[in-house]
Amino acid sequence: MNWTSVAALVAFALATPQALAQGYPTKPVALLVPFAAGGPTDTVARSLAQSMGKALGQTIVVENAPGAGGTIAPTKLKNAAPDGYTLLIAHIGMSTAPSLYRTLPFKPIEDFEHIGQVVDVPMTFIGKKDLPPNDFKALVDYVKANKEKVTLANAGIGAASHLCGLLFMSAIQTDLTTVPYKGTAPAINDLLGGQTQAMFPGLAAALPQIRAGKIRALAVTGRERSPQLPDVPTMEQAGFKGFDAMQWYGSAGPANMPAEVVKRLNDTQVQVLRDPELREKLAVEAVEPWPMTPAEFGKFIQSEVQRWSALAKARNIHLED
Ligand code: ASP
Repeated sequence: MNWTSVAALVAFALATPQALAQGYPTKPVALLVPFAAGGPTDTVARSLAQSMGKALGQTIVVENAPGAGGTIAPTKLKNAAPDGYTLLIAHIGMSTAPSLYRTLPFKPIEDFEHIGQVVDVPMTFIGKKDLPPNDFKALVDYVKANKEKVTLANAGIGAASHLCGLLFMSAIQTDLTTVPYKGTAPAINDLLGGQTQAMFPGLAAALPQIRAGKIRALAVTGRERSPQLPDVPTMEQAGFKGFDAMQWYGSAGPANMPAEVVKRLNDTQVQVLRDPELREKLAVEAVEPWPMTPAEFGKFIQSEVQRWSALAKARNIHLED
């Protein structure tokens, strides 16, 4: 055998999926974030990117691609090379978008490799400091009686904050004006400035202002009270039976990635989710991290698509163009 054929054989061996995965990653990996910097999705993404990057021995570069309720980033991901160098923080909106948008540039199941679930996070119902009544029931009566004054901010159509707003309006049988932003961070800024009156953000983004007394925390959407806000009732305790709207995050890549690369990423994600350093960062707003295999995560997203399409029909939620 001459050197040319040895080199060809080596090149072939290196090109097998196993070899690709063994060498992976050989350069920085981009992690797309579907919402603006400084919000809950961005915070989870940056914590995960740091831990995963350390474990994989490569930098994971966070790229915010906000807009259209978080549907721009998955569209970018769908069109990226399926080589493991472009990934996405997947979020609940990927499974709700088919029920909310008349046309959608991606198919939530088929167009992606679902690498793994990261965490499941309750949302917090917050209001401007000077929303009149202190007691929750009185507040709901106030909102119903002043529906032209009370505007509800959200992070875009299909964001978890938007979904919670829809469930809330449906529960109180009152339509309020909703104001979409490119993420929780800009939405909270405007709420602080008095442009909007209430919102359902993830907890971490609002906690500093809640603690500083600049925003009121009215309820949390989880099944249990948040250890960060032990005095704040759950929506269920506040009288909203079955208000079960958690926001989940996971990671995804474009469809047809080498299976070995998906496995390497899932193994690394499961490993870093056990690390106390990452758990501590996520604990600010999250319940326990919830590692899943790619197959489990794919099934979970499918069940979420079904759950939200049933809910959208039952609650008469209209489609956006
Ligand atoms: N994911 C958040 C939401 O759905 C938005 C954000 O992270 O900024 O409301």
